Amino acid sequence: MDMHNIQESLTGIRGRIATAEARYQRPAGSVRLLAVSKTRPPEDIRNAYGAGQRLFGESYVQEAIDKIATLGGLDIEWHFVGPLQSNKTRAVARHFDWAHSVDRLKPARRLSEQRPEGKTPLNVCIQVNVSGEESKSGAAPAAVEGLAFAVHELPGVRLRGLMCIPARSGGFDRQRVSFRILEDIYTRLRGRGLPLDTLSAGMTGDLEAAIAEGSTMVRVGTGIFGPRIKKR
Ligand SMILES: *Cc1c(COP(=O)(O)O)cnc(C)c1O
Repeated sequence: MDMHNIQESLTGIRGRIATAEARYQRPAGSVRLLAVSKTRPPEDIRNAYGAGQRLFGESYVQEAIDKIATLGGLDIEWHFVGPLQSNKTRAVARHFDWAHSVDRLKPARRLSEQRPEGKTPLNVCIQVNVSGEESKSGAAPAAVEGLAFAVHELPGVRLRGLMCIPARSGGFDRQRVSFRILEDIYTRLRGRGLPLDTLSAGMTGDLEAAIAEGSTMVRVGTGIFGPRIKKR
């Protein structure tokens, strides 16, 4: 995609976010945009950066490390949104600012231990399985509170909130039901004293439903960069 198209798409997505904020009585600017740039070349990231985008999300560790090195001079906040297998945690702790997909205590402990000295704690979200049997990744809703308090204690990470990737479900109302489950847990945890400020919810196809249910960060890939490039 050339620069013009990425910039146009970004403007379109920002417009969708602003419209949804207004429609669902969310403060203007309360929803941040994470541009998910997995499989995209560094030039695409540069183009989005040129249009003011600063938060980028990646799913494949080695691909991400290469891009982070290539784009080292830019003021980018890097978010890891892929699955967190144990052989990935060291690189994520070293190279990223955020990890959205903590779903068990063990990888969270590793991220905390492996966060390099001198860096601020790694920002993390707990990924919640809001779709039951339809989806395998994410902590079960009933397990989230215990996990959240345990992660909150770890010195090398800072628990910021919750994340979900709902199973694809048809209409807007069904999408809202999934996001509502996430928001209910978030509200309860805040009520119990955890200082959370992030609901990472909503992608290209369902960001309006997520914003209606309190999302503070939408993760958009195809809506900005066009159809995904197949990984070889
Ligand atoms: C790829 C990806 C996205 C972006 O999805 P789109 O439908 O392309 O907007 C968001 N979140 C996660 C975790 C992803 O892996």
